[in-house]
Amino acid sequence: MVTNTGDITVKCGLCHKEIKERSEIHQGQASFILVCSECYILFPNEEIQIAFKLFIAYGGYFGKLKTPHLSVNEILKKFLLEYKSKGKKFNLKDIEKFNLTLLHRALLYGITIQEYVQGLEILSK
Ligand SMILES: [Zn+2]
Repeated sequence: MVTNTGDITVKCGLCHKEIKERSEIHQGQASFILVCSECYILFPNEEIQIAFKLFIAYGGYFGKLKTPHLSVNEILKKFLLEYKSKGKKFNLKDIEKFNLTLLHRALLYGITIQEYVQGLEILSK
């Protein structure tokens, strides 16, 4: 059981928002990740785990770099420019790592996994 009695601070595992009310603490099914009400609504259970694992692997938290009105397309362009500026050439065998890095970047900008997938679908048309 999770308690938040005042002297213990509970932070959301995804957005790092301090959770002050016990009733606002949620735990994903089949995981020990505690999330705030907002993230609980935004992320289905399996996506909570995916996002949490990406933050463990690459650092940061949901919405850390949030910029109003920044689309998935703009994030993708920005990421590709940074990728190119580091002198890296895109290699198809690195596609999985590339995808995870890009998804992580989207999460940092406050874009949910569903919004990210929808953005990619629009870009691919
Ligand atoms: Zn949260």
